[in-house]
Amino acid sequence: MKQEIKGSYKQLIVDTGIEMVRKGITVGTWGNISARDPESGLIYISPSGMDYSTIQPQHVVVMDSELNIIDGAAEPSIEKHMHVAVFNARKDVNAVIHTHPVYSTAFGVAEQNLPGVSEDFIQIVGAEIQVATPYELPGTEALGEVAVKGLGTNNAVLLPGHGALVVGADMKMALKVSMVLEKNAQIYIYAKMLGGDGHIRLFGQNEIDAMQEFAKNHYGQKNKDLYS
Ligand SMILES: [Zn+2]
Repeated sequence: MKQEIKGSYKQLIVDTGIEMVRKGITVGTWGNISARDPESGLIYISPSGMDYSTIQPQHVVVMDSELNIIDGAAEPSIEKHMHVAVFNARKDVNAVIHTHPVYSTAFGVAEQNLPGVSEDFIQIVGAEIQVATPYELPGTEALGEVAVKGLGTNNAVLLPGHGALVVGADMKMALKVSMVLEKNAQIYIYAKMLGGDGHIRLFGQNEIDAMQEFAKNHYGQKNKDLYS
């Protein structure tokens, strides 16, 4: 496999960090981002503990699928185990974003799975997002293991008492998944408060199948602008 290190992937990590702060997905140095180059299999990950506005391309750490550091002038994110575990388990995934969003994290704290209550969520995130259990400490290999298990074939998983992990075929899709996940969590919580009886309309399996089938066959992963 070719091991060429690409400046474009380093720049993608830098740009995505700034975009995440701009979109309000994360604050300060919280969260971390990685991308895999499908050509070389190399993983580009944000550095540990640096403010997104100060990260330069040379700070982005390049690793292989066994966590060997190939390049980069900084320490990799402490969540490198979780990122690499996801890439190793999911060949369809080339971008991973971990953040601490308020509404999504509330579901992890309540140890409650998050069902999709909006169509965009069903189409790009999954029918129901799991809480990764048991609780594991940040930065541990064990957290990576439970995150992969909880993720399954969905595009997001909730980390109890911690945050969320989202994935995508590329960074643009992972960012969309991140936004749609948090929006769905917020809608669910607001909808629960309306009317007083806590009624939530959940989609039936036939509706879920139809929406996912439509998204896959009529648009697929190629038309990234479908959900913008
Ligand atoms: Zn975290």
